[in-house]
Amino acid sequence: MSSELTELYQQVILDHNRRPRNRGRLPTANRVAHGDNPTCGDQCHVYLRLDGDRIAEISFDGSGCAISQASASLMTTQLKGKTAAEAQELYRQFHEIVTTGKEPEEISDLAAFAGVHAFPARIKCATLGWHAALNALKGEPAPATTETHSD
Ligand code: ZN
Repeated sequence: MSSELTELYQQVILDHNRRPRNRGRLPTANRVAHGDNPTCGDQCHVYLRLDGDRIAEISFDGSGCAISQASASLMTTQLKGKTAAEAQELYRQFHEIVTTGKEPEEISDLAAFAGVHAFPARIKCATLGWHAALNALKGEPAPATTETHSD
């Protein structure tokens, strides 16, 4: 990878840390899931509104290391508007990137996390938000009105 690309990808992570996208609870969510990465202390709630099979809206809220929060922010931008099957495929690509460091053929913001593969303990940080989103997709519909924010 060229140093310009490395720089670009570092900027992607920094930018998502400084200005997280889709952060905060989503009042219209009909699916919610919580992810927890105790080895690093990362927490991530994912809220999404499924419209049929499509993710109409998605947001996250959480706390933890820069990698976990930037990855969750990026995840929301990647999954919005996607079907459950498309979300699974994006996660498969992202997981391959963070575990092997292999760059995708096309320039993608997902590749910003390729460097994570050199730090195996950080892979759980990078995938936390994605796991929560996929669990939310698989879970039972949860009426937003009865969802309580216990932590
Ligand atoms: Zn972490």
